Amino acid sequence: MEYLIVSNTRKHVEMAVPRKRGDRESHMQYRIGVMEGDDIGLEIVPRTVTIMEAAIAREPGLDVAFQRFPVGWTSYLEHGHTLPQTTLDGLEEMHGFVLGPIGHAAYPKKPECVNPHPIIRRQFDLFANLRPTKSHPSLPMLHQGVDLLIVRENNEGFQPDRNMMAGCGEFQPNEHNAFSVRVISRQKSGRIARIAFEAARQRDGKRLVTAIHKRTVFELTDGLFMDTVENVANDYPDITLDDHHVDTFAMHLVMSPQRFDVVLCTNLFGDILSDQAAGLVGGLGMAPGLNAGDTKAMAQATHGSAPDIAGRGIANPYAMIMSCKMLLEWLGAKHGEERLISAARRIEAAVERVIAEGKHLTSDLGGGSGTEEMSAAVVAECNEI
Ligand code: ATP
Repeated sequence: MEYLIVSNTRKHVEMAVPRKRGDRESHMQYRIGVMEGDDIGLEIVPRTVTIMEAAIAREPGLDVAFQRFPVGWTSYLEHGHTLPQTTLDGLEEMHGFVLGPIGHAAYPKKPECVNPHPIIRRQFDLFANLRPTKSHPSLPMLHQGVDLLIVRENNEGFQPDRNMMAGCGEFQPNEHNAFSVRVISRQKSGRIARIAFEAARQRDGKRLVTAIHKRTVFELTDGLFMDTVENVANDYPDITLDDHHVDTFAMHLVMSPQRFDVVLCTNLFGDILSDQAAGLVGGLGMAPGLNAGDTKAMAQATHGSAPDIAGRGIANPYAMIMSCKMLLEWLGAKHGEERLISAARRIEAAVERVIAEGKHLTSDLGGGSGTEEMSAAVVAECNEI
């Protein structure tokens, strides 16, 4: 395995093409682009790559190359842009990416200081944001027995930085009025609904999709969303479709999250509800996420760059580690590569052991360890399992 540092010059990586599938001689190299991001990203992302390397090394013949791409504030300082074109070009050549948290709120207001993740999500059409929430019996949490997956549409809705073909979905015609436009399309509602129903089929859960809306108020947009979801549900007679108004769902999520399985949301509702769900099981450090499209996927934790704790070595790496576990799983399913799925399972089992043992946990989980010790404990378990 290699972990290349890519400078701001265009680097050509030849596409590896598998020869005959199943042939023992066939060889495929999977390429994962790594963008560390800002603040705690610089601490948790390199450690997560080490964990992936440890798990991958246990799979004979599995070839994964990690390639680093500049992004964020360090990229601005070095290359004059928070998302250089060379990074976007290089990502084209990758099968999947890892993106650390981005501290864009602190960037100066300059055209070179863009928020990279909406641009990457849109450029690669990473339309499905998958955010699981799971409780752990050994950790103090508001709820036990929680195991749900929020499936959030990623590229339209209220998010003004990605919901228009050109320009911005938020504008201010005069001093006294400002507007946000919410875009809901049949096409994007349909494809995210399919992801939710497929996930409900694959999960070992309740085979239930709960769709979130406020169609009594947003009659046209949420009406179109729900009509589309109900149509898609006809293709999944083995999965139950339930639906809730977003406000009552927010209450049920706090009171009885155990009753949900897959939760299907438009963009902004999903963003808010997934942070709320994280709060039920230990906070944002426990909230992984994957942004998936038809051809590529990007691991990205739900949390931000946590500037309040950056540089202190205390960030919880769980969310980033489990996001990368989801990426390996997705790549394995996409490319029919069992060893990637096996590496993902090893990471999950290693993390579960570290949590159950409780000796190497970060302070947000009630432990006395730092990012480095918790990550090293996961590596040690990966080597052992
Ligand atoms: P964004 O809007 O970019 O998602 P945010 O405003 O939601 O970011 P975060 O950066 O996610 O804010 O931080 C919110 C709180 O959660 C902070 O107190 C931060 O320290 C804490 N936090 C976030 N991630 C972690 C982590 N991995 N480990 C420990 N604490 C974290």
